[in-house]
Amino acid sequence: MIARSLAALALVIGCMPAAAATPPSDAGAVAVPAAPVPTTADAGRPLSPALRNPALRSPMPGGIFGGYQGDTGLDIAGDHLEVFAVASGTLDYSERGHTLWTRGKDTPLSVRIALDEPIAWGNQRITHMYYTHLSKLEHEQPEGAHVRKHVVAGERIGVSGLGNGVPHLHLGLLLDGEVEQDSWTYILREGDVRKVLGGYKNGERLALISDGTKPRSR
Ligand SMILES: [Zn+2]
Repeated sequence: MIARSLAALALVIGCMPAAAATPPSDAGAVAVPAAPVPTTADAGRPLSPALRNPALRSPMPGGIFGGYQGDTGLDIAGDHLEVFAVASGTLDYSERGHTLWTRGKDTPLSVRIALDEPIAWGNQRITHMYYTHLSKLEHEQPEGAHVRKHVVAGERIGVSGLGNGVPHLHLGLLLDGEVEQDSWTYILREGDVRKVLGGYKNGERLALISDGTKPRSR
């Protein structure tokens, strides 16, 4: 059943053509990120588990890697699962739009995070993470907002939804501050996204959040 649904994913999802994936951003947007203020996640809410790359946190516990070549990021299958920040950073936006998939049952909420610390990738640097097909947002923030929310790695940022009618999350890793997704030079391919996260294979399932209860004393 899983194998069949993955095959369906690979065939059906046509997340993002490389060109015009997002509308042009506001050139007048604040260029200097607000100084990140380290905060803990909301009280009592567990962070998502560390990934196989221990510097990063799970984007969607319980999700199944279902990427395919030719996508502008990695697809992770899952039906309305909680979505988390993979690394700490400041929200560029957290709002409706920034996706081509807005019709029918599709849930067109998107988040882009400017990372506090870029991740080295060859001669390039991963500077931004882009999430789309979300059905719910933890924070509402329009692009260009003067006050920008900072999130820590593993903090919940929303709930997944549907893209092209298929329940999944699209996660894009963007390079060198080029966020328009109009050039493959600045977009990691899905296999490379899986490498960055820790060398996962398609078909693998991300670990669930532990139940968060305190260890029993005896
Ligand atoms: Zn995708």
